[in-house]
Amino acid sequence: MTCTDFLSQLTDYFDGQISPELLEEVRAHTATCPHCEVVLDTTSKTISVYRDNELYELSNEFRERLHTAIMTKCRPCK
Ligand SMILES: [Zn+2]
Repeated sequence: MTCTDFLSQLTDYFDGQISPELLEEVRAHTATCPHCEVVLDTTSKTISVYRDNELYELSNEFRERLHTAIMTKCRPCK
């Protein structure tokens, strides 16, 4: 899995729509890619905050920001 693949699975991951196989791949990727691990961690925290405020929604804008963040930080491993 590349960082781009990881990113494309991220919304499914947080929606709980991800298959067990892909979940394994996501976990394997974050285990070897510190950047994506940070993104996953940060996103989890952000979403739990939004959930507490009942504002949870993975908007396109949010996804765009994640995408930019990963592509900026993660150039060597994409
Ligand atoms: Zn990565």
